[in-house]
Amino acid sequence: MFKAIVIRKEDDHQQVAIESIHEQDLPEGDVTVAVDYSTLNYKDGLAITGKGPVVRIFPMVPGIDLAGTVTSSSHGEFAVGDQVVLNGWGVGETHWGGLAEKARLNGDWLIPLPTAFSTKSAMAIGTAGYTAMLSVMALERHGVTPDQGEVLVTGASGGVGSFAVSLLAKLGYQVTAATGKPHEAEYLTSLGARTIIDRQELTQPGKPLQKERWAGAIDSVGSHTLSNVVASTRYGGTVTCCGLAQGMDLPGTVMPFILRGVTLAGIDSVMQPKAVRMAAWQRLAELLSNDSLEQIATEIPLSQAVGAAERLIDGQIKGRVVVATR
Ligand code: NDP
Repeated sequence: MFKAIVIRKEDDHQQVAIESIHEQDLPEGDVTVAVDYSTLNYKDGLAITGKGPVVRIFPMVPGIDLAGTVTSSSHGEFAVGDQVVLNGWGVGETHWGGLAEKARLNGDWLIPLPTAFSTKSAMAIGTAGYTAMLSVMALERHGVTPDQGEVLVTGASGGVGSFAVSLLAKLGYQVTAATGKPHEAEYLTSLGARTIIDRQELTQPGKPLQKERWAGAIDSVGSHTLSNVVASTRYGGTVTCCGLAQGMDLPGTVMPFILRGVTLAGIDSVMQPKAVRMAAWQRLAELLSNDSLEQIATEIPLSQAVGAAERLIDGQIKGRVVVATR
């Protein structure tokens, strides 16, 4: 038997509790993992609170990320004792996830734990940090360089935002952080932000073209915020889009694209091919120190994960929450 958070739905009513589960009830897969740590991403918050249609099959063990040790494997690339990381692939949505002491998975979804990281630090990074890295790599691919001027990060005190600020600053970019938590200015400055702006400047409907300010931007907020960021991006700049913390709408015009050649680069972490994941994790290993991970992450036990998920969706959490599953 092992412990897991389980989401059940009956008559449109969702219930979430820690349950004891038989190992034989784990879903199909060719690798079984003893999970050391999982984490809470925005998507896990939506799944656990039921505030977004993340879970497609019930009952579901949530947790889109996990890191742990292989306890059995019939997959060619993984053997008993290997330490592994998993991000996405529909885990915690259509396949039981990481907020549990054990998980059984398709070995093709796993990557080896980078030697620079412990299982705990890999979960401090999690999908949020890996997505921030994918976003930075997209800015690089589109030619945004540190000498071009200010780069904006929205949702800056959140998981993706905190890592985006930290990674961009380490690469020498001049980072401006937009946040709704002015009391976290010191935290954001310690991550490397040079300027802090109030997110209220971006959340309301704005003009189709605004004063050109950003050489590039990493947005995890969507809605009016993303439209205003695109409208104030400089000629030829690039804005990455990965999230919808403000909303899934995009109420803008084509003007920034057709008059300023602005690029809007979509970022998906869930279905990225293995080679891209490995490249992103390699860059994370090069750029992140244990100090920066400790600044960003807070550890909680599995028993506190449901309450923390509610606070995350209410926007009350700074940085990342790592969940010790055992
Ligand atoms: P967090 O909850 O950690 O961070 C979101 C941040 O957005 C908050 O901390 C807050 O930052 C800001 N925010 C919250 N509500 C609002 C609002 N109403 N208006 C404006 N800003 C708001 O979430 P994550 O960082 O884990 O994820 C962020 C988004 O990215 C989510 O939508 C998530 O689903 C998405 N995502 C997508 C991925 C992909 O593959 N495409 C992968 C990972 C995440 P502050 O207080 O500093 O303003």
